[in-house]
Amino acid sequence: MDVVNVLGREPAMYIGGSWVATDEARPVINPANESIIAAVPEASEEHADRALEIARRAQSEWSRRSGPERGAVLKAIAQGIRAQQEELARLVVAEQGKTITEARGEVGDAAAGFFDYYATFERAQVGSMFAPDETNEQLFVRSVPYGVVIGIIPWNYPAALFARKVAPAIMAGNTIVLKPHEDTPLAALALARIVEEAGAPPGVVNVVTGAGRVVGDALVRHPITQMVSVTGSVRGGREILAAAAENITPVSLELGGKAPFIVLEDADLGAAVENAVDARFWNCGQVCTCNERTYVQSGVYDEFVERFVEAASSLRLGDPTREDVQMGPKVNEPELTKVEALVREAVEQGANVRLGGARPEGKEFEKGYWFEPTVLTDTTNEMDIVQREVFGPVLPIQPFEDFDEVVGLANDSPYGLTAYVFTSDLHKAMRAIDDIDFGEIYVNKIGPEQIQGFHTGYRLSGMGGDDGPYGYERYLRKKTVYLHYDGFGTPAELHP
Ligand code: NAD
Repeated sequence: MDVVNVLGREPAMYIGGSWVATDEARPVINPANESIIAAVPEASEEHADRALEIARRAQSEWSRRSGPERGAVLKAIAQGIRAQQEELARLVVAEQGKTITEARGEVGDAAAGFFDYYATFERAQVGSMFAPDETNEQLFVRSVPYGVVIGIIPWNYPAALFARKVAPAIMAGNTIVLKPHEDTPLAALALARIVEEAGAPPGVVNVVTGAGRVVGDALVRHPITQMVSVTGSVRGGREILAAAAENITPVSLELGGKAPFIVLEDADLGAAVENAVDARFWNCGQVCTCNERTYVQSGVYDEFVERFVEAASSLRLGDPTREDVQMGPKVNEPELTKVEALVREAVEQGANVRLGGARPEGKEFEKGYWFEPTVLTDTTNEMDIVQREVFGPVLPIQPFEDFDEVVGLANDSPYGLTAYVFTSDLHKAMRAIDDIDFGEIYVNKIGPEQIQGFHTGYRLSGMGGDDGPYGYERYLRKKTVYLHYDGFGTPAELHP
């Protein structure tokens, strides 16, 4: 992977239209083979200060541009991303480990798609008017940008999540300082180059790289920061929310998930198995919408497990740059160790390993953070493997007897992001939609979520949300105007 070629330079941060290096740098490791592919600047609090000052200066000119002028920049960014889809996808594979097929989708569909979609907001409604109490008055409530916003993103979709934060934020007239995850900063730096080439004015989009608890924390606490949009873990989200409390800064949090995948006896079992496999193993199980726990009605339970194990055992693991490979490695060593520990504890508590359960063997897997597709049965809802987010290729499959029982099992979770239901009974589908207390319900299908929807989680899964018009609203606040124009600025003879 020729990182310098894709970035156009040695890795550097993008602050105020300049490329900034630091003495201190952090290695970026390819999770498939543990090779070091780049060293990326480690920002300090001073970098956070500088990026925020510049973003503040750039914001008033940017927000005064017309919607179509801002939209044109977003469209140019989308075009630039599509023009470099293959190089960007290869960069994502090298730093994150997903398969090249998935990475192409992340870049070409998701990352470019967010810029294209939010460009369509260039002529969006920007407020509402209300009948005032007096004559010669107008009362209107305008939607206005916050000013400078912060985007903080995790490692599982380093290109798509950059776009998910940056596109709506700048379309709404904000400027943004984005901080990628420590392990996957390269996609954001490559995208910053495309932003520059697309003609975004300096300071509108800034990327700083470094530690969450250092530069991320400094960005969140800073008085210039007017809004913070985070995708990440519950731990990170809690810390950021606490830090933002200092200045009462609004925060949008997209955190973890523990999606239940419910299969009723009347479901199309073939479709349920196929979708359950995809929704568990895509991106090596590292998606907040992943099928984290499957519940199958007892009449079809044995058949479902058998078919699921068969399908999962035929997944091709290996070098994620290969076209035929279906699953790559976990992103880093701590993530791998966490998954191993969760499986070990589940087995100690009585879970039965029906498939996998360990690191794969063979020369190809000697280096890198690999874990086999794993299926567990004989689990209970109390076990950590069913309560904690695994974020890896491990699925507990549990039987249930009736509909009310499974709704109870699904809702018995501190998370509330995505839930899946497979059934051919419309009444039960509607009851599931009504009774499952999650922000996003899929019936007889799986994701990915669509750009015009609203990706939102309840409880520990977060507050706020991304995508669509509701996601766009998160980047705007309201300004109420009472305009009294009686005898104001007109010749005296026109006064009533
Ligand atoms: P993480 O919380 O460790 O890191 C996310 C980002 O937050 C990183 O950029 C990190 O540097 C930063 N950060 C961490 N602590 C911080 C602090 N105190 N102050 C400022 N910044 C801080 O999460 P992760 O391990 O990278 O991501 C995996 C998690 O993300 C999973 O739980 C997954 O479910 C979640 N996720 C959620 C969604 C969603 O839309 N709900 C999407 C993708 C991933």
